[in-house]
Amino acid sequence: MIIILLGPPGAGKGTQTAALAKRYKLTPISTGDIFRANLNDRTPLGLEAQNYMSQGLLVPDDLTVRLVDDRLAQPDALGGCLLDGFPRTVFQAEELEKVLAKTGRKVDRCLLLDIPEKELMARLTGRRVCRSCSSVWHLNFYPPPADLICPLCGGEIYQRADDEEVAASNRLKVYLAQTQPLAEWYEKKGLLTSVAALGSPKEVEMAIEKALG
Ligand code: AMP
Repeated sequence: MIIILLGPPGAGKGTQTAALAKRYKLTPISTGDIFRANLNDRTPLGLEAQNYMSQGLLVPDDLTVRLVDDRLAQPDALGGCLLDGFPRTVFQAEELEKVLAKTGRKVDRCLLLDIPEKELMARLTGRRVCRSCSSVWHLNFYPPPADLICPLCGGEIYQRADDEEVAASNRLKVYLAQTQPLAEWYEKKGLLTSVAALGSPKEVEMAIEKALG
């Protein structure tokens, strides 16, 4: 089973991906996490991606598609995957179909986390994440421990550079211009399920489970 989690930055894709992957035993694949891990390790891919990520722009399609092609061919991705943050353009969605077709697979469902635009800036700028396990915190809604040490893994809790005001605002613009059209693209294919994503993480998780049947 291949499920895509679509939604604007700040909608809670990362949080829901972690919960759903566990519940449905799917391999979570987050292109943002892969880019950030590469950046932490100072790989050529990470350093190239950083130029785009720090400004809130999309990493070029060719680089991103190649990365996902490799990732989806790994043994743990052959059973079923939850894609978080990919595809983000119609071109990437078309390429994903070709990549999956190589192993006789296809996208089963695209879940859209639907949330009012005005909620997103506060969610993004208050967000803090663990550098090691990517768990998510929020200064107002779900504060991290005062020492900023992740209680789940001991990693450092920090603010992503692209969650700062200017980059975050760019990411929202990029989403509206380049990624939002994907909802209609998957709708036309009969694969889109929209879920209201304004409640608590648990409430949204339940709504997704209901929507998935
Ligand atoms: P995310 O963690 O999903 O918010 O992604 C963080 C950043 O990584 C994005 O703002 C982009 O710069 C880059 N990125 C992640 N996924 C993609 C993608 N599918 N296409 C292009 N850039 C991406």
